Order: sequence, then C-alpha cells, then structure tokens
Amino acid sequence: MNAPKEALLDRFLRYVKIDTRSDENSTSCPSTAKQWDLLRLLHEELLGMGLKDATIDENGYVFATVPSNLPPEHAALVPVVGFLAHADTAPAVTGTNVKPHVHKGYNGGDITLPGTTGQVIRVADYPNLEKMYKGMDIVTTDGTTLLGADDKAGVAEVMTAVDLFLQNPDIPRGVVKIGFTPDEEIGRGADKFDVQRFGAAFAYTMDGGPLGEIEYETFNAYGATVTIEGFGVHPGYAKDKLVNAIRIMGDFITRLPHEMSPEKTDQRDGYIHPYVLQGQNESVSMRLLLRDFDMNGIEKQKAIIEKIVEDVQKAHPKAKVTAEIKESYRNMRYQIDKEPRLVAYAEEAIKRIDVTPKHSIIRGGTDGARLSYMGLPCPNLFAGGEAIHSTLEWVPVQVMEKAAELIVRLSEIWAEKSATKQ
Ligand SMILES: [Zn+2]
Repeated sequence: MNAPKEALLDRFLRYVKIDTRSDENSTSCPSTAKQWDLLRLLHEELLGMGLKDATIDENGYVFATVPSNLPPEHAALVPVVGFLAHADTAPAVTGTNVKPHVHKGYNGGDITLPGTTGQVIRVADYPNLEKMYKGMDIVTTDGTTLLGADDKAGVAEVMTAVDLFLQNPDIPRGVVKIGFTPDEEIGRGADKFDVQRFGAAFAYTMDGGPLGEIEYETFNAYGATVTIEGFGVHPGYAKDKLVNAIRIMGDFITRLPHEMSPEKTDQRDGYIHPYVLQGQNESVSMRLLLRDFDMNGIEKQKAIIEKIVEDVQKAHPKAKVTAEIKESYRNMRYQIDKEPRLVAYAEEAIKRIDVTPKHSIIRGGTDGARLSYMGLPCPNLFAGGEAIHSTLEWVPVQVMEKAAELIVRLSEIWAEKSATKQ
C-alpha cells in the first residue's frame, strides 16, 4: 500500500492541538462551541481531498462518501460500510494547550514525560507498552493535559484511510461512508446521528484500545432509584412519631450484596453500584447502577433490589419504601450477532495486516452500542490509545498506521466477499 500524502502523525499532531472537550452541563449540540473548530476543519479537509458530498449538519455531524471503485453492477452487491470516530475529548482532564511529544524508537522501560510535572508512564501499569510496542514511536503529553488520542487517533486514522483509498485504486471497495461525531464522551454522540442520512448498512467505530482489539460486547445497563419517605417531627418530641428516612436508607444500603460491587468485580462479572444519595430525614433517595453482560444477570439484580425493598418495608412499616428501575442501554452484542460477517470480516482484515485479533469486552456503554440499536450495527476496532482520560495518555504511531490500513483492508474484504470479480 502506498504511503499517504500527509503522514498520519502530522495529521494527529494537528488535531490534538485543537481543544474539543465536551461538557455534560451544556444542552447544546455540540455541547461546546470549540468542537466546531475540529469538525469544520475535518469537513474542509474532506472537501479538499475530493469527497464532493462531504457535509456538516447543524449539530456538527460530518459525513462523507468514498465512492466505490468497482463496476456499478458489482458495487451494488457490496453493503455500504461506514467508519466512525468522535471528535470530542473527555471532560475530566483539560485539553487546552496540548503539547504532544513523540518518543521516537521507544527502547523499552518507563517513559518520563518531558514537562515539569515529572510524571512517568510505568511499564508495571501499562505492560503493553514494552510487550507490544518496543521500537515504535510513542506519542505522549507533557504531563499537564490529556493527549486526546481518544478519539483523535481514530479521527486521524479515518482521514488517513481516505487518503489510502484514493491513492490505491487497485484495492477493491464498495461505497464507504465516513463520519465524525461530537459529544461521545458525555454519552450523546448517537443522539442526533441521522442513521438514514449516513446511508450505511453497518459501521465500525475506530475508538478502541490496543493493537488487534475488536469489541462488540457492552454491559446491559439499568438504573434504579430507591426512595424512602419517612415522617419528620421536632426531634425533642419525636418518641414513637419520627420515622427517619436516613436511618432506614442506611439499613437498605447494608443489605446490598457487598461482593457485587464495581470495586470487587472485573471481566464478565456484573455489579450493583449506589452512586447518588440525597435527602433529609423526611425523605431520602438513592440512585444505583445495575450492570451485567447477560440479561439473566440483570433480572437477578432487579430481583435483589425488589427483595430488599420488600424486606426494608417490612422492617419499617411506618415508612414508604419504593424502587423504580429503568433500562439505560442493552448489550450491543444482541444486535451485532444478527450479522456474523461484521466480526468475522474484521478478524480477517486484522490478520491481513499481520496482526492477531483479540476480543475484549466493554465494561460500560459506547455510542456504537446505541447506534447498534438505532439500526446501525457498530463493532469497535482498535485505535491505539491507552491510559485514556488521563495526563498519562499515550498512543504508538505505528498502531495508528495499522488502524488506517485496517480500514482499507476491511473494505476490501467486504468487496471481495460480496461481489464476484471478473
Ligand atoms: Zn472514545
């Protein structure tokens, strides 16, 4: 495959210097005006590369089409596949004045960041660094900001793939759609995504971690709100009258299963997580997260909450104990499994770029999971970033290059398998 006109690294370094932090307290879309800076730039660059139908809509979504290079009768047989990346970065760490630093030809060992904070990326904490990426060029921050590889690595990879498509007309492809979205980090990237207008049958988000990774399983997520109504009386004259909702909620909390908590579970184990508690002695409410990869696990968790409600109600008959449980999102796997080619072709494409595919699971949700339920099944592929949402964030340049190549090979496999070549 020919080298792209503009090296991926140059592109990535330009993008990370543009501050695009999203803000969950804002109601606009994009949630922050500064996201327009990158989204508009991407739109202009796509037009500049010759993608004539590139658009940016009133909510900041950038869509474009790479036309097929097959004869029309063959192109029509290939499903339209999309590639997505999000332009915003996490609100938790500042993204202002990012000063990326390239550690060329990483030799192994810990990496001390060049800024004044003296922070160190330790191999003990990030074993992939030495195990997988020795000899590669590692991009880090100076220790004062996030890097924004999540997901500007994905953005640079998709943009570079457009270059690769155009410069390698001999590699067959169907119609390929690309898209850049705002506000993924605050869980709203799918909110205003117009699946119909995007026009793909399936898509892949380029928003994963280490080289070779494929993710298509997320938690099933429910939220519970438990409310306890007590009865307030002047505490000096409260004997046999006061019903203290705070104490009763304390009783409720001690009955939650201790082992089924985020701090005691990993891998495929689910959890119940109380995370907001508010109120006064008259009335207290608590919000809890219910998470499990399996819907049977969620049903068990719901039963646990309902049983505690019943028991606490019995123990405190003068109070009123209620729980409301609602679905937040479902495991995307239930949608992805309907089209087995999605993951099978991704695996084959990863092998084609000489990498071993590795399945991992997402202990959370993604825009891809929501899009999967909006009619656009969306597995997530590696983008290369690690230690995301922190000042230690880093990404190997050569992994980003592999990801760009993967996009082209994956499109090639969809074309090969769907249209008979003559
Ligand atoms: Zn991301």
